[in-house]
Amino acid sequence: MKEIFIIFFCIFLFFTLGCSESSSNISKNTINVNESNSKDKNSIKIINLTNYKTTELKQWINLAESKMKSRKSRILFFIYPVGEIKRPEESVRSDYADSVFMKHEVLLTQKQIDSILIEIKEWFIGDSCLDNKDIKMHLNDYRTWLEQGADASTMHGVCEETRVVAMGVTKNMREREPLTEFQNFLIHELYHAFQQDLNDEGKCRERSDLKNANTIWMVEGGAHYFATYMVNEINKTNNDINSDILKLGLETYEREGANLVEASPDKSGAAALRLMIELGMLTEEPILDGSFYHNCQRELSFDSTSSDIEHIRNSWYLIDKNGGNFKFKNSALKK
Ligand SMILES: [Zn+2]
Repeated sequence: MKEIFIIFFCIFLFFTLGCSESSSNISKNTINVNESNSKDKNSIKIINLTNYKTTELKQWINLAESKMKSRKSRILFFIYPVGEIKRPEESVRSDYADSVFMKHEVLLTQKQIDSILIEIKEWFIGDSCLDNKDIKMHLNDYRTWLEQGADASTMHGVCEETRVVAMGVTKNMREREPLTEFQNFLIHELYHAFQQDLNDEGKCRERSDLKNANTIWMVEGGAHYFATYMVNEINKTNNDINSDILKLGLETYEREGANLVEASPDKSGAAALRLMIELGMLTEEPILDGSFYHNCQRELSFDSTSSDIEHIRNSWYLIDKNGGNFKFKNSALKK
């Protein structure tokens, strides 16, 4: 069976604060299952072994889903805590997302890990796009991630309409970062599961393979753009979202440079999408309702070899800070 090979994952930075290890506060509860193993599209199942309340996760997911113009995929989340990163640092080897995640202290018991895998297997079985070999291979990967404490952060498109979100939530995120970071992580991965055209073939794939293709930064940027918008709405913070997007864009540029894809493509990509909106090349609506990702507009409506897109690649980081407010420089807004 065909699998979506493009791997979208998000890297969350670690800030080692030198805190002493506090006792790990893991819920000993059994797995929460919110939805049945329904084969209906639109079903969402959550397996949550963290202390984040599943009822809240469900609320946030439902709110995000309500923004989408249409839905195609059935989605399974498995969310689990991991401890401190193993030193010396070592990556996790697996078939999908090989060497992308790092090994951490394992906080789940073997029984909990086995239970998660049984739940996932039951969810997979009967999905017409998967055969037994596919299921075995995916479960092997997930077992490896769980048993090695992988800080998984990925939407695995196992089929066009069957999407698995894996989130290995680090101690840093659970204990040292504000809840908004976790919310952003969750909504970001969920948005990838809503993106309907990730494995479009033909001209879409051809153009996605070009050297300066738009795919990575537009797919990642859309997820970050939407997550920023949703986290603001969930918490009713009334932030200037555009300024927030540009702030992180500027920080990314200062830390990682001007390359849209090599820099954290979610943060730089969101700034680049924002610049396209301010230049009138795109409206915000199709990003916020997901329809921008229905028919490969990222490559088919926007030619990555055009001078317009070249301008975006060369200007997304031209951002001024004025007090706490971030805006594009005039040079970015002139084509
Ligand atoms: Zn992503």
